[in-house]
Amino acid sequence: MIFIGAVIITTPQQVAMQDAIKGVEMFRKTNVPVIGHVLNMASYICSSCGAESKIRSKYQSFAEKTNTELLGEIPFDIEISDASDDGRPIVISNPDSPQVCFVTVYFD
Ligand SMILES: [Zn+2]
Repeated sequence: MIFIGAVIITTPQQVAMQDAIKGVEMFRKTNVPVIGHVLNMASYICSSCGAESKIRSKYQSFAEKTNTELLGEIPFDIEISDASDDGRPIVISNPDSPQVCFVTVYFD
């Protein structure tokens, strides 16, 4: 395995982003390249109609403060949550799920 840097994962809540900013600062102080960040729970997908609603009111300040690239967004989704709680990542438990596209599109 070759280590090339860190990917920061955060949710769009202010407390989570404050912790993630500390993570970015720690990696930069220790000369670990920060490849970018992933915004978890970035949106909500309605289980009835499939409409996506963005949840990112304070997000822009995170991107500006850390000057890191957004690598991907993962929606808040009950299927992802249930699969994770069961110890089966959705990419394994339901690889054809439309939510998997959100998870993998930036990492292919
Ligand atoms: Zn709906």
